[in-house]
Amino acid sequence: MAVVTESEPNEPIDMEPEFGSNNNEGCSSRHVANGTPRDIAKGLEDKPVQPHNITFPKNKENGRSFSSMRYQKHAWLEYSVSKDAAYCYPCRFFSAGIHKSDECFISIGYRNWKNATGRTGRLVKHSLSQRHLNAAAAWADFENNQQSQHSIRSTLSQAWKDQIQNNRHYLMTIVQILLYCAFQEIALRGHREGEDSQNRGNFLKLIDLVSRHDSVVKNKIHDGPKNAIYTSHGIQDELLALLAKKVLHKICQAVKEAGFYSIIVDESRDSSKQEQMSLAVRYVDIEEGCVHEHFIAFMQAEHQDAESLSSYIKQALITYDFDINKMVSQGYDGASIMSGHCSGVQTRVREFAPLAVYIHCYAHVLNLVLVDSVRSVATASEFFVLLEALYVLVSSSKIHALFVKLQRQCNPNQQPLEFKNSQRLVGFADTLLLTQSVVHTMHFFLL
Ligand SMILES: [Zn+2]
Repeated sequence: MAVVTESEPNEPIDMEPEFGSNNNEGCSSRHVANGTPRDIAKGLEDKPVQPHNITFPKNKENGRSFSSMRYQKHAWLEYSVSKDAAYCYPCRFFSAGIHKSDECFISIGYRNWKNATGRTGRLVKHSLSQRHLNAAAAWADFENNQQSQHSIRSTLSQAWKDQIQNNRHYLMTIVQILLYCAFQEIALRGHREGEDSQNRGNFLKLIDLVSRHDSVVKNKIHDGPKNAIYTSHGIQDELLALLAKKVLHKICQAVKEAGFYSIIVDESRDSSKQEQMSLAVRYVDIEEGCVHEHFIAFMQAEHQDAESLSSYIKQALITYDFDINKMVSQGYDGASIMSGHCSGVQTRVREFAPLAVYIHCYAHVLNLVLVDSVRSVATASEFFVLLEALYVLVSSSKIHALFVKLQRQCNPNQQPLEFKNSQRLVGFADTLLLTQSVVHTMHFFLL
């Protein structure tokens, strides 16, 4: 009969009969790597495999079988269904070396169920052996270490997530302040933006205001790393450029979805004496059923001849990926270089965009009509000269104060008309209002 011998220095030599006369029947292998069955733990990432609710096979000779009740007393115990054998989890993975007496619980597998239980049973003896106790202690240390590492990892992970969320919240606040200033057309920067400045500009003052009500923004501004505050001029420009890119992308998408579109181009000299061409696009929103008109870009016009201007327009249409064949009209002022039907910009544009009908800008046309009408009708000309003189008179500080005072007297319930910031008539509406107010005021005091 084959036997498996297990000897410990501190315990009596135990000669255990294994079942059957064939060694292979009780011992699957003498090497852990090659002989360990695959249905028990394969590594430290697995827990001890302890199958329940199965029928454990009975030994043919004595009718004994393994019982899942043994897991309760021996947490280290593993059972292989394929081998019908018990193994020791800590000894397999945490034993310093394989002693011959350990083999039955490490590589061979223990199956002598008749001698397994009881005070002097094989399982109790193994659990009290010094090598098993050492391995079990190492296993317990490993488990504790794993738990603390998991706890540290989860703590770090939560802190990491919080930091990401706070960073996003802060950056979104910066973006919203930039958008607010851009939408309201107010300057971002102050003349002096240092800490000791009394007015650091709209952008920094708005951040300061928000930080009084938002702890995340406050912490970032006052206690965050100074290289990640995102308030520098460079960052402002970069964020605005990204936002503009996003808006432009949406407009371009809408134009493509609309199918057909028109362009409006005008040129003007900017404050740095550079000629700039402005490009605007008009299209019909099919879903809303209304016309949209959007500014697209300024283009620097180094040369102002018709060929250069038309090439700038073509280049812009290509840059923004507009389908040239779907441009159905082009609107400019009446300057001959733009409107000329022989070699003007409109003619050259129609060479690459044949559907683009030229439209003389209606606002420019109206302006020309008004100027020509006033010049042609002497009475109208005199009227506007008189009106201009009246406006200049009323705009002088002494007369203006008197004018406001008289308005309050004759119309106590109405807000008086005031002209404070302009030396010239701003527009047709101002002209009418001024005339009306002056006439009413004079009428009130003359009668
Ligand atoms: Zn063990």
